[in-house]
Amino acid sequence: MSSTVRERELLDNVPKKLLIGGVWREADSGARLAVEDPATGAVLAEVADGGPKEMMAALDAAADAQRSWAKSSPRLRSDLLRAAYDEVVRRADEFALLITLEMGKPLAESLGEVRYGAEFLRWFSEEAVRMGGRWNRSPEGTTRLLTMKDPAGPTLMITPWNFPLAMATRKIAPAVAAGCTMVLKPAEQTPLTSLAFAELMQSVGLPVGVLNVVPTTRAAESTSAVLQDARLRKLTFTGSTAVGKRLIEASSSNVLRVSMELGGNAPLIVCEDADIDKAVAGAMLAKMRNIGQACTAANRILVHESVADKFAGNFAAAMSAQQLGRGTETGVQVGPLIDERAREKVSGLVSSAVASGARLLTGGSARIGEGYFFEPTVLTDVGEHDITREELFGPVAPITTFCSDDDAISKANATEYGLASYVFTENISRALRVVEELEFGMVGLNQGVVSNAAAPFGGVKHSGFGREGGAEGIEEYLSTKYVGIAP
Ligand code: ADP
Repeated sequence: MSSTVRERELLDNVPKKLLIGGVWREADSGARLAVEDPATGAVLAEVADGGPKEMMAALDAAADAQRSWAKSSPRLRSDLLRAAYDEVVRRADEFALLITLEMGKPLAESLGEVRYGAEFLRWFSEEAVRMGGRWNRSPEGTTRLLTMKDPAGPTLMITPWNFPLAMATRKIAPAVAAGCTMVLKPAEQTPLTSLAFAELMQSVGLPVGVLNVVPTTRAAESTSAVLQDARLRKLTFTGSTAVGKRLIEASSSNVLRVSMELGGNAPLIVCEDADIDKAVAGAMLAKMRNIGQACTAANRILVHESVADKFAGNFAAAMSAQQLGRGTETGVQVGPLIDERAREKVSGLVSSAVASGARLLTGGSARIGEGYFFEPTVLTDVGEHDITREELFGPVAPITTFCSDDDAISKANATEYGLASYVFTENISRALRVVEELEFGMVGLNQGVVSNAAAPFGGVKHSGFGREGGAEGIEEYLSTKYVGIAP
């Protein structure tokens, strides 16, 4: 089968409606939103474009299902998640292609996302049957204290476009394990993967109303009434800090439980004693995964002045060897950015940094022609500039130097963000000292990746609060109830 026939067949089979209360339906208005291939700008498919009415109908379905879902056995929920894991793994190539088509990353990376996204299903299938409480006597010995966990309740999940499968499973899997019902609003750029995944969850037997999916082009308008509805008990959001702040405000009147996974401005510190090959390989991963469009992406590369030239030379060589193209093509390592707005932002930051004196070692330009491509770019001599303050979200690496550990730590921490950070050193005492001082939720030590379903993903400061994955992940979807029992 030719690749385009396979793509067409896959796209034809993806559900393109809203999933509300177990029924696939159009928006009442009949509106549809177009999903674009960022490598060509061509429309891949049109899906139903929900609005406030459909979002509320989805909450109705979630609220109706909550009571019985909370009573379902942990084993049933665990088995469902495990079946979903098996199914995603069995259909990994299909999900990977769908992700590449609507989001743009190369197929090999999409497969990586599928494996990573599936791991949340497996991890939380294991957690679902391990939830416990506590039983103790009060210190005075006059009463018994029973501590138990209840599902937090109906949850609104808002996800971004950069990891269309993993950002959904990272929320859905712990919610299923905990017994919460859900309304998922995927990003308007990438609804297809979420719709395909919701259909998969239906096919493994997830009860009606537990997971509802409403893509919409009117995110704020569509979610505002739901956020004010007393039946909604939790909001979990992954996206930009600006939108996150607005949602924190919006969730206050209903006093919602909130988890926020927001922007990052990750430093990657290369110490004087780092293994330079390891640091370059780590920086390539930390910078280039997802074409630089990850909240964990290394935004600021900080290198000790004694090894800066060597690191910058090797790193620029690795960056310039990257092959750009449509993610479905063999050998392609760098796909397009998500849209023209994203490319303009990256392009603007690079030209303004260069105009302010930064030196271009490689790249620096948008690629002419179709698709939203931008060349892998390395800059040195970057002074005080927005390029190191803002979240870049592109294949651009500004390198700056430092002269001591303290200098590195203070430069690394000089940001309002606090999500991921990376340190490369072969000296264990230095590593621990630096790690302890970093004000970030996650640190990659001699490695350029921090994401793992078994680890608590999340940030501090303006990068948000709450953790996804690990033993902590399920707690976000549980409420603690304590019972005082007379002796
Ligand atoms: P990005 O700029 O990377 O697209 P956003 O924070 O704008 O990040 O988007 C992340 C998710 O939040 C998407 O699903 C988007 O539709 C949604 N979103 C954006 N603005 C709002 C809003 N005001 N209210 C609710 N959801 C929103």
